[in-house]
Amino acid sequence: MLTKHIWGLLLNALLPRTCAHCAEDLPAGTEQPLCGACLTSLERPAGPLCPVCGLPGADGPCPACREAPRPFDLARSAFLFTPPLRSLTHAFKYSGRTSLARPLALLMAAELPRCPELGTFDAVVPVPLHPSRERRRGYNQAALLARELAGLSGSSFEPGAVRRVRETRPQVDLRRRERLENVRGAFEAGPGAKGRRFLVVDDVATTLATAGDAARALKEAGAAGAAVFTLAREA
Ligand SMILES: [Zn+2]
Ligand SMILES: [Zn+2]
Repeated sequence: MLTKHIWGLLLNALLPRTCAHCAEDLPAGTEQPLCGACLTSLERPAGPLCPVCGLPGADGPCPACREAPRPFDLARSAFLFTPPLRSLTHAFKYSGRTSLARPLALLMAAELPRCPELGTFDAVVPVPLHPSRERRRGYNQAALLARELAGLSGSSFEPGAVRRVRETRPQVDLRRRERLENVRGAFEAGPGAKGRRFLVVDDVATTLATAGDAARALKEAGAAGAAVFTLAREA
């Protein structure tokens, strides 16, 4: 795993600096992973949002939030999951480009003031990754984002606040209801959660089932609040 990590670092250093989406050359010295055009093309969730899960285009709570109460207080995302963000998260998750954590967290931090409804929080918690995934990948991309975001927002990074207590099947290929059942009861939070407000961080929001389960565990342990913030939202 260490060899894989070092190899990834080496590749990052040796590869020419090009836009992670369109492969346009990047200006020397930039930390940005996207070229100017791709960066300005990023879309924010706009218009009326579901007040609970942040889904765009909802007039009041969306069907999913009406169907079942969400375990989190609310969820918001920095951007919509458009092609440039797909390329970025793919490079971040599957190509070992862990150096993307910082620029991606900077993008997220810049969007936080747009979502004042998320409120204040004492600690930032990543959505735990499925253990077999983390073993294969060597890192949890949500934890890398959460650590950077905690630093940028001046709150404490607490990756151990929610931990997995039983194995669940990977979420890929499961239907929505199966996903909800698959993660239910999979997490546990410690007594340290009592009375505190948490920001649960993930890279991409799809069903929000896993983030919801992490929030549920925090609430069951007495947390005063659990809001979810993700880099991207799959609409
Ligand atoms: Zn580009
Ligand atoms: Zn909703």
